[in-house]
Amino acid sequence: MSEKKFLVIAVDGGAASGKSSTSRGLAAKHNLMHVDTGAHYRTVSLSLLRRGITGADVFSATENPLENLDLGTEVREREAAMSIGGVVPADSEIRNDAVNAVVSQFAAIPEVRKFLFDYQRSQKDVAREHGFDGLIMDGRDIGSVIFPDADLRIFLTADPEARARRRAAEGIADSIAERDKLDSSRKAAPLACPEGAIKIDSTDLTLEQVVEKISAMISAL
Ligand code: C5P
Repeated sequence: MSEKKFLVIAVDGGAASGKSSTSRGLAAKHNLMHVDTGAHYRTVSLSLLRRGITGADVFSATENPLENLDLGTEVREREAAMSIGGVVPADSEIRNDAVNAVVSQFAAIPEVRKFLFDYQRSQKDVAREHGFDGLIMDGRDIGSVIFPDADLRIFLTADPEARARRRAAEGIADSIAERDKLDSSRKAAPLACPEGAIKIDSTDLTLEQVVEKISAMISAL
């Protein structure tokens, strides 16, 4: 009997397109470890803000404020969270107006993306070490830059109204349109559906329907 293949699934899409909820649902169904890379950018942003850094001007050829950050991974059930100096910040610390206002600006800095590249690729080994059957990672550039070789690459879209409604239902005020604009127009790894990825418009679908649709694709791999 052949050994079960270790799967890598990439899920990309704009702000509030349902990436994380969908990925969590799929992780439970297929024994995958879920990594939310938006949380990585949020955690790095929080660390920079706490050090009084608010813009790209401190990054130069000789200075990188991220250089000595000690990154780690904490796996809770199926979720892998990034720690800095052994601490995973609380959701309330990284999902608030202050971080929403700066995260896309920091994420557009090539040094910030480069800093997270190896860490994000290494999550595949973390998932293996923890006995998962695969890794599901969501973000903006997973299928284009981090895992262009993924077994399945999904790009989720939804009407802006539907996305705003979802965030409101979660009780969260979010600068969805502003972040999407910055994320799509930046030079480094812009938000776009990569060639060969499967595009799913979730505007008229429930979360369960989106999960079912992708789940069938994973089962067929
Ligand atoms: O996914 P979430 O909306 O929490 O991501 C927060 C921000 O992090 C995004 O608006 C984007 O600027 C940045 N991001 C990114 N690349 C990723 C994931 C997130 O640039 N892979």
